[in-house]
Amino acid sequence: MVCIVVHYSEIGTKGKNREQFENLLVRNIRYILRGDAKRIYKRYGKIVCEVTKETCIKTLARVPGIANIAIAEKAKLNIEDIKKTALSVAKRHKFKDFKVEASRSNKGFELDSMEINRRVGSYIGEQFNAKVKLKQPELTIYIEVGEREAFVYTEKLKGIGGLPVGASGRVVCSLSGGIDSPVAGFMMMKRGCEVIFVHMLNETLSKSSVEQKIRQIVKQLAAFQGRTKLYLVPFGEIQKEIIMNVPSKLRMIAYRRFMMRILSRIAEEEGAKAIVTGDSVGQVASQTLENLEVIFNASTKLVLSPLIGLNKQEIIEISKDIGTYEFSIQPSPDCCSYMIAQHPATKSNMALVEGVERNIKAIKELVEAAVKNSKRELVEMGEVNNHGCLLYTSDAARRRRR
Ligand code: ATP
Ligand code: MG
Repeated sequence: MVCIVVHYSEIGTKGKNREQFENLLVRNIRYILRGDAKRIYKRYGKIVCEVTKETCIKTLARVPGIANIAIAEKAKLNIEDIKKTALSVAKRHKFKDFKVEASRSNKGFELDSMEINRRVGSYIGEQFNAKVKLKQPELTIYIEVGEREAFVYTEKLKGIGGLPVGASGRVVCSLSGGIDSPVAGFMMMKRGCEVIFVHMLNETLSKSSVEQKIRQIVKQLAAFQGRTKLYLVPFGEIQKEIIMNVPSKLRMIAYRRFMMRILSRIAEEEGAKAIVTGDSVGQVASQTLENLEVIFNASTKLVLSPLIGLNKQEIIEISKDIGTYEFSIQPSPDCCSYMIAQHPATKSNMALVEGVERNIKAIKELVEAAVKNSKRELVEMGEVNNHGCLLYTSDAARRRRR
């Protein structure tokens, strides 16, 4: 049995809602660990997971709302047992200098934190012939004294932080096969949103390989929230209408406005509060402020674009961290790239676009049919690739990759 201590950050500051947030996080952890969890319970300011294997820590590193995680040993609430446990934890390491960092939420414990540091410090020092060094020691022994037990550990690993999925409600993410939109979906999960993914499928190109690619991306993203719903929306009819009625310069805009209408309908059906896109100002022609205004205007819902102010390279870094990059760069005929004009308009306006849209007779019916005929799937988290673990992406590894 392995004991993992989970700390959360932001949800600790949510006042009255705190318990609700904690319960959400516990629920999410239970779902994500499933068969590997023996017992999961709350302790003041933390969650304790008793699991069957150490690799569960990798799974937990992907759960939004978790600030840090540690594999710990439990000690009884007396200094002798704490010393013994610290010894057993320290034995797994080679070190010449160390420090003890005790904290206690249990103010009734016989000793205060300073005294625990002193007693455990001198005991470990004698046993290992090691020196106490407060600045950058080779080993830090953490001791957390709670109400019922103490936890002792040496390595505290960083989680992705943020809020537990579900805390902020549901959103619908417009997912292309590209690099950006999966990152946008992840960013919203990190802010406590349950994300449903919607992809518009071009009928005329190799559909099944695109579907495969989209499923892979969604599966990778599902690891952050346990599982997710995916809509594959047939877009062929709408594309035909647009090609027939809209001049090529404005097609991309018209095309994305239809997406917005479809996304709004799905959001309605799913009780989602917002639509999420992977737009970033000025990255491609459809993403000038003028064009974004016209595109977002077709939505009846709030539109959120969490990447709006990020540079491409910054987005790529995140996509590598979350493990979607290698799937996103697989070549696939996106319906957008298929329709793109040589010189798309960079400054459209509402009057112009609404004018050409009048040529399309049955906008509402086209949208209804696309939603009705979409394929709906439940995608469970699967075996994710190694990059899907932010925990092991150290700053050093990041720098090396740059
Ligand atoms: P991405 O890397 O996310 O594809 P991009 O920089 O290539 O973004 P566009 O292709 O213009 O830019 O797409 C802008 C946004 O429109 C995407 O981030 C996504 O939210 C949405 N989008 C584009 N194509 C599709 C699609 N086929 N299905 C669903 N949403 C799409
Ligand atoms: Mg794209």
